[in-house]
Amino acid sequence: MYAGHFAAGLAIKARVPQAPTAALLVGVTLLDLLFAPFVLLGIERIHETPGQPPGFSLDYIDWSHSLLMSLVWAAVFSAFFLKRGHVVVLTIAFAVFSHFLLDLLMHPGDLALWPGSATHLGFGIWLWQPSGWWWFELGFIALCSAYYLVRARRLQSFGGRGLWVCAVVVALHVVNSPWLSPAD
Ligand SMILES: [Zn+2]
Repeated sequence: MYAGHFAAGLAIKARVPQAPTAALLVGVTLLDLLFAPFVLLGIERIHETPGQPPGFSLDYIDWSHSLLMSLVWAAVFSAFFLKRGHVVVLTIAFAVFSHFLLDLLMHPGDLALWPGSATHLGFGIWLWQPSGWWWFELGFIALCSAYYLVRARRLQSFGGRGLWVCAVVVALHVVNSPWLSPAD
C-alpha cells in the first residue's frame, strides 16, 4: 500500500485531532522511509520480477517491516512526542503500526514476525492483478477521506483545506495505478 497509508494518517488525524498532522503523516510511512536506506545499505534485499506480478519480490525486509520491528519503530518514533501527553504518543505509535496492518493485507507473505523469523505473513491483495488491488486500495482511501471530511466539518478544528488534501492522496493513488505504471 502506498497512498492508502496517507489516507490512514488522515483518518487517524480525524479521530484524534490534537495529534500533529506532520507526525502522523511521517509515522504512517515510516517503515517505508526506513526500508529505502536499508535496501541501499544492503541490510534488506529486493529483486525485480519482470512480467510476474507485482513486478518485484521483497526478499528480506525484516528490519523495517517485521511485526516486532514495526512495534519497536512505533515505540521509538512516538517517544519523541512524550511532552504532548499519552494520548498523542499512543496515537502516533498507532499511526506507525498501521503501516504494518495495511501492508499485512496487501503483501504476499513477506512480512516476518521478527528479523530472521521463518514465519511470514501477508494476505496478498497485491496479487489481485491486474487492477483488483488498486480498486481495493481506492475504496479504503475513499472511506478514510469521507471520515476525515465529515469530522473536519463537524469539529472545525482541522482540515481547513480538507478537500485538497484528500485530492492529493487520490492523485498519488492514480499515479500509482497499473495503467500508468505498466512495469508492475
Ligand atoms: Zn511498507
